[in-house]
Amino acid sequence: MIVGVPKEIYPGERRVALVPAVLPTLARSGCEALVEAGAGLEAGFPDAEYVERGARVAADRAEVFRAAGVVVQVLGHGANDRTGRADLALLRRDQVLIGFFRPLGSPETVQELAATGVTALAVELMPRVARAQVMDALSAMSTLAGYKAVVLAASLLPRMFPMLMTAAGTVTPARVLVVGAGVAGLQAIATARRLGAVVWAYDVRPAVREQVESLGGRFVELGLETAAAEDVRGYARAQDEAFYQRQRELMGRQVAESDVVITTAVVPGRRAPVLVTADMVARMAPGSVIIDLAAERGGNCDLSRPGETVVAHGVTVVGAVNLAGTVPYHASQMYARTVTAFLGHLIRDGRLALDSDDEIVRETLLTRGGAVVNTRIADLLQSVGGVPATTIKRA
Ligand code: NAD
Repeated sequence: MIVGVPKEIYPGERRVALVPAVLPTLARSGCEALVEAGAGLEAGFPDAEYVERGARVAADRAEVFRAAGVVVQVLGHGANDRTGRADLALLRRDQVLIGFFRPLGSPETVQELAATGVTALAVELMPRVARAQVMDALSAMSTLAGYKAVVLAASLLPRMFPMLMTAAGTVTPARVLVVGAGVAGLQAIATARRLGAVVWAYDVRPAVREQVESLGGRFVELGLETAAAEDVRGYARAQDEAFYQRQRELMGRQVAESDVVITTAVVPGRRAPVLVTADMVARMAPGSVIIDLAAERGGNCDLSRPGETVVAHGVTVVGAVNLAGTVPYHASQMYARTVTAFLGHLIRDGRLALDSDDEIVRETLLTRGGAVVNTRIADLLQSVGGVPATTIKRA
């Protein structure tokens, strides 16, 4: 079976879906890699390294799609909302396509994928169960984003992170607040602690408190957290506006006293809640920094703009987008490992076996045989209306 690795085409994207180191593992499952020339170059993996590990290199992107039974991408159509559509013409019926497709954010693009007849599997829908942890690309990318958010904040802040006692006097440590202590938030806490900051964190899910404290962070008590805030998948549930209003009021003082605020609070399939208003920003000390990791999903900070850095009331607000992509070497390495584990799970006796009784397949499978077969996405499409019932086929 040929696994095709096209070059990523989202403007500025430097990651690649497979790195040379995973190719021997794929070969043991009966897969041969066909890599588009230069696909790994910007992540630090030249063509020669792929060839050394048994891959073939194709000069032409169309050839990769033509020859491959399975195509692996980082940002497929939907997740690549700028140039992803161009690949639709290259896809063919029953070809398997694996990548990020942002199906919960843009379900209509899932219909466009379905129309090509391709069998698409979305890695962001990987269930949060123990056996799928090695296939969890979303967590891998969130880990990198959490790390990079802190490094970015440290470089923008006009203060240092650690406490220092020197002959020139004592330097007080930076105060960092992390809002949303999921995968990215926990990595941000750990990184900020390593740099010597004093770190507070808040999350609506009470289970998180222990994890925050185990990393040396201090949990902010708002009295709002409740077991009902967590859904069966382990994600936060959406709350009503009155809840978020109360949260903003209670968090106000903590935000004002922080040098750095890193926000990561999101709810799957929803616009991110606004948790830091312009008024709250105005009460922060000049020079403070906000890194909004939820910027792409609408933003946790009223003032953040996706992909932009704005300075308001003397506070630098970064609308962080695709921070994982700014660490392309390790992002590609980690992504490649999760995709290789996923393929290893799907391949039986040298062939891809998509068993819909398997939770991992059922949850990630988006389209097959010309239809949207994912129940979650089909429901979402129907809820946004106007979808002909014939395009939705239950798995
Ligand atoms: P996410 O990216 O969907 O959300 C980030 C965080 O924001 C979450 O912790 C969420 O509770 C929080 N949040 C949402 N609304 C908030 C609000 N109003 N105020 C404060 N915080 C808010 O979540 P994620 O990082 O992908 O992970 C969610 C959970 O799943 C975590 O506990 C993580 O450890 C767990 N997880 C489990 C597995 C597994 O078992 N295989 C894999 C990955 C993650």
